[in-house]
Amino acid sequence: MQGVIFDIKHFAIHDGPGIRQTIFFKGCPLSCWWCHNPESRNIELLCEETTDMIDGVKVNSSNIQGNKYSIEEVVKEINKDVVFFEDSKGGVTLSGGEPLIQHEFVKKVLLECKRMEIHTCVDTTGNISSDVIIDISGVTDLFLYDLKHIDDSKHIKYTGVSNSRILRNLKLLDELKKDIWIRFPLIPGFNDDESDLLRMMELLSKLKHTYPISILPYHKIGSHKYRRYGIDYKMEGINEPTENQILRVHNMFTNAGFVSTVGG
Ligand code: SF4
Repeated sequence: MQGVIFDIKHFAIHDGPGIRQTIFFKGCPLSCWWCHNPESRNIELLCEETTDMIDGVKVNSSNIQGNKYSIEEVVKEINKDVVFFEDSKGGVTLSGGEPLIQHEFVKKVLLECKRMEIHTCVDTTGNISSDVIIDISGVTDLFLYDLKHIDDSKHIKYTGVSNSRILRNLKLLDELKKDIWIRFPLIPGFNDDESDLLRMMELLSKLKHTYPISILPYHKIGSHKYRRYGIDYKMEGINEPTENQILRVHNMFTNAGFVSTVGG
């Protein structure tokens, strides 16, 4: 069995507690307008044709994004960072894309981490079958759970999929008493409408447990990739949020009694 992995980040400090190794799986069922890694959404290892301008000259090249790894190869990578996990109370985070598309391989990695007594995080869009969520919940210490928009029609417009399964799985994880960090990508004009935010808070307040919320301000890093890979870029002219816009949303969450942080 092999996993299709886009990238492995060592010494990650924003993907869960402590120092982590974040393993980015290739493939995603969403197509968010603001995605920083649009070339990672396809699970296939395709040869991508790219065009760069070097000193005003067009240079065409082709390269393959990602690699196939066996479980043994992933464990070898994880072992490189074990000493940092121990010192910082960190661990391994499986991210993507949507890692749970490759849930059989992901579960094996999580089981290996458990065998080595390493803390595990899964960073998920939640847009996956409930059976998969239940299956991996027993070997996952913490879920990083993306909530992009509470309004279903806007969610469909900006990500290409409905949020109904995402919200159902969030409730399911809550019922399973799992630890969750909510991750909210803040995109001005897209998901910072006051009434939408109030609806999101209402939903979160109905969960049995209270979870910290990380506000992730949209940034334009990665926009050049759309040109590079010839993908339609829909965020042209959309600005990164100002400090005041971030503060406003942060205050809304904290005033409503949630633990809210910016970034991470
Ligand atoms: S969920 Fe993440 S990886 Fe998937 S399209 Fe959206 S931003 Fe990109």
